[in-house]
Parts: sequence; C-alpha cells; structure tokens
Amino acid sequence: NHYSTHDSTNSPHKARRKAHKKVDIEQRNRMLEIRKQLPIWTGREALIDAVHNNDIIVVLGETGSGKTTQLPQFLLESGIGSGRKIAVTQPRRVAAVSLAHRVSQETGTQLGSLVGYSVRFDDMSWKGTRLKYMTDGMLMRELLSDELLSQYGVIVIDEAHERTLRTDLIIGTLKSIMRRRHSAALPPLKVVVMSATLDADKFARFYNAPVLYVKGRQHPVRIFNAREDIQDYVDGALKTIFQIHQTQPLPGDILVFLPGQEEINTLGASISLIADGAPLKHDISILRLYASLSPAQQQKVFVNAPANTRKIILATNVAETSITIAGVRHVIDSGLARERKYYSSHGGIGVDTLFVKPISKSSAMQRAGRAGRESAGTCYRLYTERTFLSLPPTTPPEIERTNLNFAILQLKAVSEETFRNFEWLDEPSEEAMQQAHMNLFGLGAVNERGEITEVGKKLAGMPLDPGIARMLLAAQTRECVGTLLSLCALLAVDSPIYTATSASQEQEEQQHTRDRFASRHGDHISLLHIWDAYMDVVQSGSTGDVKEWCVANKLSERTLRRARDIRSQLSHQCLKMGMDVSVNAHTQDDETILQCVLEGMFHNVAIRQGDGTYRQIVNQGLVKIHPTSCLLQRKAPCIMYSELTLTTATYARTVSAIHPAWLRAVAFYNQRGSM
Ligand code: ADP
Ligand code: MG
Repeated sequence: NHYSTHDSTNSPHKARRKAHKKVDIEQRNRMLEIRKQLPIWTGREALIDAVHNNDIIVVLGETGSGKTTQLPQFLLESGIGSGRKIAVTQPRRVAAVSLAHRVSQETGTQLGSLVGYSVRFDDMSWKGTRLKYMTDGMLMRELLSDELLSQYGVIVIDEAHERTLRTDLIIGTLKSIMRRRHSAALPPLKVVVMSATLDADKFARFYNAPVLYVKGRQHPVRIFNAREDIQDYVDGALKTIFQIHQTQPLPGDILVFLPGQEEINTLGASISLIADGAPLKHDISILRLYASLSPAQQQKVFVNAPANTRKIILATNVAETSITIAGVRHVIDSGLARERKYYSSHGGIGVDTLFVKPISKSSAMQRAGRAGRESAGTCYRLYTERTFLSLPPTTPPEIERTNLNFAILQLKAVSEETFRNFEWLDEPSEEAMQQAHMNLFGLGAVNERGEITEVGKKLAGMPLDPGIARMLLAAQTRECVGTLLSLCALLAVDSPIYTATSASQEQEEQQHTRDRFASRHGDHISLLHIWDAYMDVVQSGSTGDVKEWCVANKLSERTLRRARDIRSQLSHQCLKMGMDVSVNAHTQDDETILQCVLEGMFHNVAIRQGDGTYRQIVNQGLVKIHPTSCLLQRKAPCIMYSELTLTTATYARTVSAIHPAWLRAVAFYNQRGSM
C-alpha cells in the first residue's frame, strides 16, 4: 500500500530507520558502472565546486545527460547542504515517482528510505529521507507549514523551462527565502535551477547566477513528415503503428503522443480490435500514460515488455521530457496537446477553457528526441514539414495562460510577507491581478482590503482548486460533506462514462449509460447517481463483480477507482481540518448539494437567451451545452458548469440547472464567510 507511509505510526518508522541503513552494495556498484557512462559524470567535480562556491547555479543540458538522476546524488555524496534534505522538484507526478524509483535503485537502497518522493495524494518519504523527488506543487504546500523550508539544505528546481505556474511560484519565492534564512541565522539554502532548453539566461539573469553546461548524448533520429496534415490523427497513428509493427524488428517499442485521454482510449480500443482480428508478427502490449491515472497505473509503462512483444505506449505530453521509458525506438507525434487557457476578455472574471492546440517546435523536437535515447530511432510526424516550421518556438509560460486565483491565495496563505516579497519571472498584468482578487473576494478568501481570511487559509490548505475547496466548506455548513467529497473526487478525474470510440453503436451505448443515471438537475447529480450505484456494488460485491458491473454499464473502472482513491485522501484531509465526514450517503436533497457546488463555481454561470443559447454572466461570452450533457434538451433558464471546452464552439461540460435566486444567496453566504 502506497498510502500508509505519510502518517506512519511508530513501528513502520522503526522499520524505515532499519531499511535506511540497509544498502545493497552489489547493486549500487553495478549501477555505478552505468552511471559513469553518462555525459554528466565527467562534470562531477566542477558541478560540486560550483554549488559550493555559489548560492545559486543554473544547469543547462540536453535531455538524457543525467541531470535529474545524477546531480542530486553528487550533492548528497559531497555532503553539501549541512546534513539537511535535498529536494528535487518536478512539474509532473509520474516523473517524481519514476525518478525516485530509479535513484533508489542506483543508491542500492529501498525506495522511501534514503531516496523518496512526495506527490499529491501519495507520500513515499519519511523524516530520514535525504533526497526527495517531489512535484513543484508539493513543495509549495510545504511552504504553508515551513515558511523558510528549514528542513532543506538544497532545492533543485528541475525542468524549469517548462515554466509551470507552481515552478514559477517556487522560483519567485526562493529569492526572498534565501535572504530571510540568512537573517534568521539558519544555514544557507542552496538552489540549483535545471533547464533542458536554451532559456537558461532568463533564470541566470533573474537570480544573477552562473550557468553551467552539460553536454548531451543523443543518437540520430530519422524524421518522417506526413505529405499532408493528417486531420484524423487517431486513424493516422493507428496505421503508422501497424506499419512499424509489421516491418520493423524487435526490440523497438513505440511511443505515441496524443492530445488527451479520450484520444488515447479511442486509439487503444482500435489497436486491440485489429490485433484481435489479424495475425501479427509479434505480440503487442498497449500501455497508457496520462496525468489523471494513479501513480501505480502510471508506473506500468516502465515495466519491460515480455519476450517477443512490442510495447505501444499511448501518452499525452506527460511523456515529453523528464521521464525515461527504456526500449522506445519509434515515436509517432500527432503534433497536438490539450491545453488549459484562461480567457479574461471583456473585463469580467475569466474562466478556464480546455482546448486542443498545436504544440511548439521545441516540444516537437523533444518528442522526436525520445526515439534516440538508447540507439538510433525514427519519428513519424502526422503533419507536414511546413506545419512544423510554422509552429511557435516555445509554449508560453503557464502564468500567461491561467488565472491567478491559486497563485495569489497560496502566496498569501504562506504569509503576507511572502506575497509582498514575491518577484515574478514574468510580471502578470494589473488586470489579471485585480481579477484574481475579485474572484478570491467572491469566494470569501480575502477581505475588502485584500487580506487573507480564515476561510482563505482553509481553502489554501486543501490540495484542491480554491473553488472546489470552497464547495467542501459550503457542504460543512449544510451538513453534506460526505456527498460533496464524492463529487469533488469525481470532478478531479475525467468523466467515468467511456467516450472510447466514435462508432455509432458505441455512441448509442454511451447514451444509454447517461440516460440510466441521468438526473433532471443535470450532470453533477448524475455523477453522484453513478457514484452511489458504483459504491453499492463495491460494498456488496467482489472485485470481479465490480469489473463486470463497470463493463456492463460502459463505465471506466479505472477512473472510478482513481476517484475512490482521491476521495479517501480528501476525506482524510478534511478530517484533519476538523470536518465531519462520517456521512457518506446522500444526506441532503439535490438542490442543497447544487447550492454547495454553486458557492465554489459562482463565476461559471450562464443564462438562457431568447434564441436558446446561453450567455455567461461574467464576461457575456456565448456557450453551448455539450452534447454529452443530460441537460441538453432541458432548456433550463440558468446553468452552472464545471468547465468549458473549445472546439467548433465554446461548450460547457458537466452542467447543472440552477435557480437564479440562488445566486444572490451565494454572494451573501460567501461574503459572510469572509468576516
Ligand atoms: P536528464 O535529467 O539529463 O534528462 P536523467 O538523469 O533523467 O537525464 O537520465 C539519464 C539517463 O539515465 C537516461 O538517459 C537513462 O539512460 C538512464 N535512466 C534514467 N531513468 C531511467 C529508468 N527509469 N530506466 C532506465 N534508465 C533510466
Ligand atoms: Mg531530467
């Protein structure tokens, strides 16, 4: 069980201390020979010296040179950091987990003892862990209880070029932490910023730090461009996979980059269908990798394929940098990624929108590079060379695409001083700052003067978007925390209703599933209907029954199981905050539950117009109800929605009907909460 380590009682602690001392010398020495082959190894002394002589350095090196696995070990071995922990941050969960696995092998120790990891909802470390791979988000959370990061001697910020919001927040906060640690008479904090692309100058200037270069080791990758852009890229990928599979020798696994989970499931189903019907030269094993899978599910891609079998890994851009999947020789690149963007048009409060978008040149190059890790490889682009040349050079930083609600709330929750001292790598617009303050004020998280409230502190303490966290607080007053916990967990994962293929029979079956669980109130209550039915089976049946039930009802068992995981973690968190989570069943009427949801989502509301379309109340934009919503035919006068997707139009997904009068009540509740 992955989840037991965090709140370990005394006895596992003792076991851990023992394990901590145990080193498999033979394994360590065997791995040492492999480590010595890495390009970074020759720079070992120079890197250690540089960290000794500077508080901050920037390390620039190609993917595969050994930055992430080796540099932290060099620092550990050299004793830098005055015996305190070394943190290595990663933008992605899967990377933090797989790197910790790898490095614990290299050190010949058990995972979670000397080397560990910490990601949202999963902690594999203890107080004796010296090298901790963690998501940037987890380090942000640790700031809430340890403002000066006093348990750490070194912070390594990895994949800084990805410029995720949380990495940016850490980079901006560390500057003042280093200063303040000095005046607090704590040992100095060392910082290493690592980047895979040529924007190291930006970090070097920001910190006034030297840049060290590590050369890479990349085998040639032959690139095949499509003769014309392939519109149906799922079909294009399917054909390419079988072309490779039937003509290329083993070993040689295939990595396919797709925009999201839906495309991955569609392609996965099509591959199985073909593989079942036709004699193949070798066996295939289909693996999936995307962000919302559980850590255990994600780790499956790292297991080597059995003999005479080709691994086909279907991934989102999660697999673009940072992780090494041994055995990959062929890459198929759709050229697309799903991106979240925050539109703040018309001066109102903006909303997050998800849409599929062409990747950047730098991403396309990283994707191709994945084929040349161990030997020469090939990359098939499902788009033309002309399209490649027209791509933007890099992806804009997340800070320019997201709302600042989370960022500001998080900084203020650490302390007003942290917020005041914060320096942005890229300064957001005054307008974006004001909007975030308005949103937070609406949630009752800050008061009229912009200072964080008790409610705000509670919201920041939950590992959730502030809006979702607000729903849970609302549920506390209305005595339905149990139900809202289930709903929040379901909103944190993708829809459990399969959207596997585009075949019309499948679509019909999916519609049946939706009809079976539909509520007249809309999709939020429908989700809860699915949940209740699922939990009934879970509580009364065997594992096999649950599987069977999910298949019969066209529901994704994987997604529901993940939601269950998240729910139990959230419930634990709420318990720690003194909330009553004992009641699990539907303890309140549907309208009360929706009012709780609305408290966190009051800015995602739209009103029906004379012509049947909906107009958002915050920025007057038009939205349509997504065809998968059970509200599609209902003509509800007023709706709220969990997210917007931009395809041919702006579609609201996960939609519920609300009563316009609730809006005023919500404004009142939230303001009262802020006092
Ligand atoms: P960088 O951070 O510079 O991209 P890493 O330190 O992540 O490089 O990886 C360096 C090398 O270590 C990889 O090219 C690979 O040879 C090896 N490696 C890392 N992780 C794994 C793994 N999970 N399985 C097998 N080899 C790995
Ligand atoms: Mg790396």
